[in-house]
Amino acid sequence: MKDIGIIDRVWIGYATDQKVRLNAASGGIITGSLIGLLENGSIDGAVVNIPDLDFPPRGKSILAKTKGELMHSAKSIYCVTEIGRGLTIAKYDDSIKKLAVVGLPCHISDLRKILKKDAVLRSKVSICFGLMCGHNVLPSATIEALSQSGIDIKDVQEICYRSHGWYPFSYSVKMKDGSARDFVWPNSTMKVIWDSLKYQPQRCIECFDFAAEEADIACCDAWLDEYRGNMEGYSIVLTHNEKGTSLVEHLIEKEILTLNLSDVSCIERSQYTQISHKRGNKNE
Ligand SMILES: Cc1cc2nc3c(=O)[nH]c(=O)nc-3n(C[C@H](O)[C@H](O)[C@H](O)COP(=O)(O)OP(=O)(O)OC[C@H]3O[C@@H](n4cnc5c(N)ncnc54)[C@H](O)[C@@H]3O)c2cc1C
Ligand code: SF4
Repeated sequence: MKDIGIIDRVWIGYATDQKVRLNAASGGIITGSLIGLLENGSIDGAVVNIPDLDFPPRGKSILAKTKGELMHSAKSIYCVTEIGRGLTIAKYDDSIKKLAVVGLPCHISDLRKILKKDAVLRSKVSICFGLMCGHNVLPSATIEALSQSGIDIKDVQEICYRSHGWYPFSYSVKMKDGSARDFVWPNSTMKVIWDSLKYQPQRCIECFDFAAEEADIACCDAWLDEYRGNMEGYSIVLTHNEKGTSLVEHLIEKEILTLNLSDVSCIERSQYTQISHKRGNKNE
C-alpha cells in the first residue's frame, strides 16, 4: 500500500509477559521484543528513549543494555526527541556488536542516511523498530498544557505521557516536592493542545512517513472499537521486509509476543486521520 510503504506482514497483539504489557504504551511489543532479543543474545543493547530529567517535557536517547533499562524506556514520549546521543554511545562501546534502534519514522530515515556513511555503526545496527507517528510537538506544548492546569514546569521532576492503562490512558506528573498529579488524557489540557497541532515542528507539518517505512518492524496502537476499554493494551505490528518478518515470527514461536495475523485494513481503520494527513504531504 503506497501510503504506508512496503508491507510484508501485519499482526495484532501484545507482549506475552504481562508486566511488560501493562508497563507499555499499548501492547508492549517493542519493549517485549527488545527484552527477548537481549536475553537470547540476538542483541547486545538498544538505543531507546527515556524521560529527560534535566528538561522534563523532553525525552533523551540512551544505550540500554539491561532489562531494567528497557523497562524504564517503555511508553511514548509526546515531545520532540533524538536518537543521536544513544547511537554515539553505542558506536564507541566495544561490547556492542549487535544493536537494535527504536525511533520515530524521521529518526529511522535519518539513521539510514547515517548508516550509509558510518561503517562502524553500519556493522552494529542489526534491527530497526519504528513507531508509527501522526505528529509530534515542541516542549512548549507540554509547558503550556501544564500551566493551564496550574503547574509551573520549574516545579516538575518527571512527566510520564502514558500512564495507568490503555484506554483511556492518563498522563502523570511527578513534582519536585514529592507529590504527583494525574490527568486522564481525553479530558486533559495536553490532549486539547496536542490535537490543535499548535506546536508542531515544521518537519512534522511536511512529513509524509506515517508507518516508519524505512524500519524493519513498525508498531502502532490498535485504536479499534473491538480493543477499547481495557487496562491491557493492543498493538498493531507491521513488517516492511523479510528480515522484520522472520524476527517477529521467531518472537512469536518463542512465546515472547502473542500475535494474531491480520491485514492492512486494521491500520487503515485505526489510523485513518493520520494516514490521510500524510497522504496529502506525499502527493504534494
Ligand atoms: C510522538 C509520537 C507519535 C505517535 N503517533 C502515533 C499515532 O498517530 N498512532 C499510533 O497508533 N501510534 C502512535 N505512536 C506510537 C505509539 O504511541 C506506541 O509507541 C507504539 O504503538 C508502540 O507501543 P508499544 O507498547 O509496543 O511500545 P513500548 O513497549 O511502550 O515501547 C515504546 C518504545 O518507543 C520509544 N519511544 C517512546 N517515545 C519516543 C520518542 N518520542 N522518540 C523516540 N522513541 C520513543 C521508547 O523508548 C520505547 O523503546 C506515536 C508515538 C510517539 C512517540
Ligand atoms: S510527524 Fe514525521 S517528522 Fe514529525 S515526529 Fe513524526 S515522523 Fe518525525
